[in-house]
Formats: sequence, C-alpha cells, structure tokens
Amino acid sequence: MAKSLVSAKRFRCKACGHVFEAPQPDEEPEEILDPVANNNPQASIPNPPSAVAPVARSIVPSAAAGAKIYDVLPDPKPEAIVVHCHDPRFQTAFDQFIQDELKLAPGQYVRLVVGGGAGVLANPLKLPKEFRFMRDRFEYLRERFPAIKRIILINHEGCGYYGTLKDRVLNYVPERLKNHLADLPREDLKLIEGIFAHLLPHLGLKLECYYAKYADLEHTKIVFERLAG
Ligand SMILES: [Zn+2]
Repeated sequence: MAKSLVSAKRFRCKACGHVFEAPQPDEEPEEILDPVANNNPQASIPNPPSAVAPVARSIVPSAAAGAKIYDVLPDPKPEAIVVHCHDPRFQTAFDQFIQDELKLAPGQYVRLVVGGGAGVLANPLKLPKEFRFMRDRFEYLRERFPAIKRIILINHEGCGYYGTLKDRVLNYVPERLKNHLADLPREDLKLIEGIFAHLLPHLGLKLECYYAKYADLEHTKIVFERLAG
C-alpha cells in the first residue's frame, strides 16, 4: 500500500488519509491493502481471520480444513497378489473370501481389479496388450515387495467382460466350449496354469486359481471353487 510515516507507532495511508496504528511486537501485522495503488480491485477483500482449530503439527493445514482424515497402513508387507473382476455384484464376496478363506488381511496382499479377472492371461497371443499389462504389474510388484510369494486368480460366473472378449478370442476357444461360452471364465483358469508355467516362471510365484459361482438358483449367494494350485 502507499503509506507515509506519522510516528514510530503510526502511519497514514496516502490514498485514503486514514491513520493506522503500527502493530505491536506480539501482534500479527495486519496487511492493509490499497486497491488504487495496487490496481487490483480483488485486493480490497481482506483476509478473513483464521477459524481453523489448532491441529497436530505434522498435519498439512490445507488437508485438515474440514476434511476427514484417514490412516495410512504402516509398513505393509504383502505376501500375495489377488486378481479379480470389477463386477460390483461380487465385491463383497471377494472381500470376505480373501479375508476368511485366503487368510489375507489388509496389507498382506495387493489387489488388481481388472475387467474379466484373469481372463486376459488365458490368451496372450490374441490379447497381447492385456497380457503385457498384467505381466508388467506382476513383475513390478514382485520386485517392489519381495515377500510376495503367492498369486491368486479369481474368475467368476456370469462375467460380463468375458462377453466383450468373445469376438477377439473365439478362434482360440476349444470347439467343445463354443456352444458353452458361459463356462469360459472357469475353463480359462485351467489354461492359465499352463501359461504361467511357460510364460511367467521368472516370477517365482505360487499360483492359486478360484472360480466364484452362484450357490443358489436365485443368484443371491456365492461359493468359491478351487481349480488349480
Ligand atoms: Zn466379471
């Protein structure tokens, strides 16, 4: 602002003529802005007094302003990779299965949620980009978390994404399955065991394959069938 000194404790604004008291040593200096001198109409809006409650020193102030704070899982050491589909009907069952049957708590595994689950791994020649995407993630995770020793692949019944893969992989589907494409997510898991042995042995991971299927005619319950590993 444009100002002139009146005394050691007071000064006068050249634009409006108002005399201001100089801040005391233990006060925060109040910024008095002159919109004319700064040619900035927005600058006439004073900063509001801070209403943010004191926070722990390690919390970033901008992150604490009204936002809910979540915990970071300290020093996780995952021992498994879990791959499953994004189908929302199965997510609760996947969560419970991982915890209750695979005995993996949060932090003990890394989850890769991919449309079709492990389906893209069954056709590396027909779906090379998808296969490479998965292989690259496996290799990264194996290096990043050396404690990872298991890889769990889960396909499921009624997988919509398998429908989108159908045209691209149809030539690779065994004749006996072409009239039973609904079985493909399950049958592919058997192929994948061999593909892992031939194309991904360098990962050194123990493979486990599961098929999630409906346990009742009304499709309200899900059960997991182990197919390989
Ligand atoms: Zn699916």
